[in-house]
Amino acid sequence: MDKARKAAEYFSKLPGIGPRQARRLVYFLAGQEKRFLDGLAEVIGTLKEELSECGSCHRFFEGKGKRCDICESPSTDHSTMLVLEKDVDFENVRKLGVYHGRYFILGGLLPILEKNPTEKIRIRELVAETGKQIQKGLKEIIIALSVNPEGENTAQYVTKTLELLKEKHGLKLTLLGRGLSTGTELEYSDEDTLRNALKHRG
Ligand SMILES: [Zn+2]
Repeated sequence: MDKARKAAEYFSKLPGIGPRQARRLVYFLAGQEKRFLDGLAEVIGTLKEELSECGSCHRFFEGKGKRCDICESPSTDHSTMLVLEKDVDFENVRKLGVYHGRYFILGGLLPILEKNPTEKIRIRELVAETGKQIQKGLKEIIIALSVNPEGENTAQYVTKTLELLKEKHGLKLTLLGRGLSTGTELEYSDEDTLRNALKHRG
């Protein structure tokens, strides 16, 4: 296989990149300075070593260790846990500075009629982590997924799966998203929208 096609094949595996965009990226990169390409290759090559996945919230953080700073920090509000789809959502929520509790990254959304939900998202991990955190004072889980069919389907599935823990421990399960208009991706929310959605969660 020729180099350009092989590179395009790699790029088309990236989220949100189709075959056409993948080819555009290849030719864009081919036109760049060698220094730029070397820098890019270096950053990509060491990403795995520089970032660790937190054993509690499953987000990627810079540095080494089993848990991230937010999961370990005493200044985190450990009574609430915000369930998000992906790391980018975490970054956006964090940046807005209106939420100070724990997080959990599901790692995906479930299409309607998904046959293998336990393989698509970290649902087993979520149940285990919730059980563990209840012992340490967790009182509420806030599900904050995109307001679209996949997001709603996933929210329903998560709610149903956590039902038992909810009944047994009086855990509060709330949904975020009513403050966001339909079709809104969580990652595009601004500070006021998120603050409002947090205030009116239910
Ligand atoms: Zn963490």
